[in-house]
Amino acid sequence: FFLTLEGVDGAGKSSHIGHLRELCESLGHEVVMTREPGGTPISEALRAMLLKESMHMETETLLMFAARQEHILSVINPALASGKIVISDRFTDATYAYQGGGRHFPAERIQILEDWVQQQLQPDLTILFDVPLEVARARLENSREQDRFEREDNGFFERVRAAYHARVKADPARFYIVDSSRPKADITQQLQDMLTTRLVQ
Ligand code: C5P
Repeated sequence: FFLTLEGVDGAGKSSHIGHLRELCESLGHEVVMTREPGGTPISEALRAMLLKESMHMETETLLMFAARQEHILSVINPALASGKIVISDRFTDATYAYQGGGRHFPAERIQILEDWVQQQLQPDLTILFDVPLEVARARLENSREQDRFEREDNGFFERVRAAYHARVKADPARFYIVDSSRPKADITQQLQDMLTTRLVQ
């Protein structure tokens, strides 16, 4: 089972990751927790470069998919083949949202890379942590040091959020949307109920 977590920066996905893992384990599953860009030594090196250096959006998109290719072949596919649950903090929806929506990189070209790199691989379920921009920005300003994506202007984040919503519209059955402006305990409970149903059926 391949579960991915998405949302604009500051939407609060990181505060639920640990709980999601425990929940899957308590239901008897082995879990591999990972993230994108990242998840392997090469992909983490690409992540460090991506988060630090400004570059052409074409290069940025290709490096995202290079990191993803390595991640899929060395981590995701083997884990899924051995029956584990893979939980990835971001996956290809983030490329459609950030490079596609945020930077106006053409979605048709992302699609070509997606088909090439992923073959048939798609998440079984994607949890989208959704929150109004003002809330996300306020959270980011109070948090850790920001990477270069997090320093983009509000227009960028509006486009990222809109692109996530377009992804949901194109494939509603794959997504579960969390209203991240609700209290954390409510969200935890909501995710627990939803995942238990999905994984036990
Ligand atoms: O989720 P996390 O904060 O770890 O993501 C690292 C950064 O990379 C974020 O600022 C995110 O916006 C950015 N990112 C991106 N394009 C992707 C994936 C992540 O711009 N495809």
